Amino acid sequence: MRIRTRFAPSPTGFLHVGSARTALYCWLFAKKMQGQFILRIEDTDQERSTPEAVKAILEAMVWLDLDWDEGPYYQTQHFSRYREVAEQLLRSQHAYRCYCSKERLEKLRENQLANKQKPRYDGHCRDLSVQSSLETSYVIRFRNPEVGEVMIEDCVRGRVIIQNAELDDLIIFRSDGTPTYNFTVVVDDWDMKITHVIRGDDHLNNTPRQINILKALGANLPIYAHIPMILGSDGKRLSKRHGAVSVQQYCEDGILPEALLNYLVRLGWSHGDQEIFTRDEMIQYFDLHDINKAPSAFNPEKLLWLNQHYIKTGDPALLVKHFQWQLEQLGINTTEGPKLQEVLIAQRERVKTLKEMAEKSRFFYQDFEAIRPEFLEQQAPGIIEPLLALYQAFENISVWQAKTIQEVLEEKANQFGLKLGKLAQPLRLVVTGGTVSPPIDVTLQLIGKKRVLERLKRALS
Ligand code: GLU
Repeated sequence: MRIRTRFAPSPTGFLHVGSARTALYCWLFAKKMQGQFILRIEDTDQERSTPEAVKAILEAMVWLDLDWDEGPYYQTQHFSRYREVAEQLLRSQHAYRCYCSKERLEKLRENQLANKQKPRYDGHCRDLSVQSSLETSYVIRFRNPEVGEVMIEDCVRGRVIIQNAELDDLIIFRSDGTPTYNFTVVVDDWDMKITHVIRGDDHLNNTPRQINILKALGANLPIYAHIPMILGSDGKRLSKRHGAVSVQQYCEDGILPEALLNYLVRLGWSHGDQEIFTRDEMIQYFDLHDINKAPSAFNPEKLLWLNQHYIKTGDPALLVKHFQWQLEQLGINTTEGPKLQEVLIAQRERVKTLKEMAEKSRFFYQDFEAIRPEFLEQQAPGIIEPLLALYQAFENISVWQAKTIQEVLEEKANQFGLKLGKLAQPLRLVVTGGTVSPPIDVTLQLIGKKRVLERLKRALS
């Protein structure tokens, strides 16, 4: 049997990190089993679904590099198929038309609540022998078995049993002719030959209903794995209140896709004590049965730690496109100035995100308000003269290399009886506009001779 998993987001907003983790687990399991991973956009809720959300989800999937083998399929393109299957269920008496008015259903609900009963449909139209005239509006309900139980052998939760008596006759088609969520999922999972449904455990309540419909259709049942949710630091479900929750936000904040994936794979799954996983390792070790039963709490510090790891150790040639994107977001033009890859290598030990790296690299490409001589004098009394001497020495350097720059710096520091740092720090201020940068020789080399001389001149005159 070919393993087939699917990721089925509803496009009502950005891709939440919880959904991204679900997508990752579906993807990993398909890869591990040499199966197929299907992307299905569940856009039947036409009021809440938007094209922008579809775009954001697809972009996030591409950014995370979770490639899909089939799709994206769109549920709105399958309406005639859902209608066809509903008709099939009507013919086989597994479904029936319900003509109950809103008023009747409301009254029923009120009475049930007053009697401390769980509100549920009472089956009034189950066995109508004569169907009302065509003009009357109706919904289609699934005829749920009245007795017996539904058993789910969930890969994460273990065995879950639900009594059919707990479930009522679910609406599968609304009176406006649109299918409902539980029905479209079933038809698609069946048609798409999904073998493993891996999804958030907020759907666990839907599963017995879906299983009953699948059984009525004579379909093979998929294997289920319901993943516990992600919590914020306060133990409540992770939401915007806790900070960034969308994949797009993490991308904008300068997190690397590899770091986010590595973080998410460990959030709710483990393989011994291992923290860092390459993609191949994730695929090799991933197992649905190792998913934690308990919800996990999101830890932004750990994500930053992983991000730093990937920034420090990643292939600069691959990291550079993310760095460039960040610089563009800040409106920094990098066509003139040092090679991005060299700046990245110089900066990568000292930042936690690529956004931070971009912010700290502005001075390599852009000028800033000149440091005034009075300010320099105030910061480091007597520094103007050594800086002027340095200016002249720098002018004479023919090959602008960190090594030569360092030699000149040492020579001038000696000449003026200064510790190297006492010369380097004011110089750093003049050429970077700030007090933090990579080692001064590398910083100067990268800024370039022309810009270094210009900045010195500006500050000293
Ligand atoms: N569309 C549903 C959601 O975004 C997922 C349905 C499923 O995985 O079965 O929550």
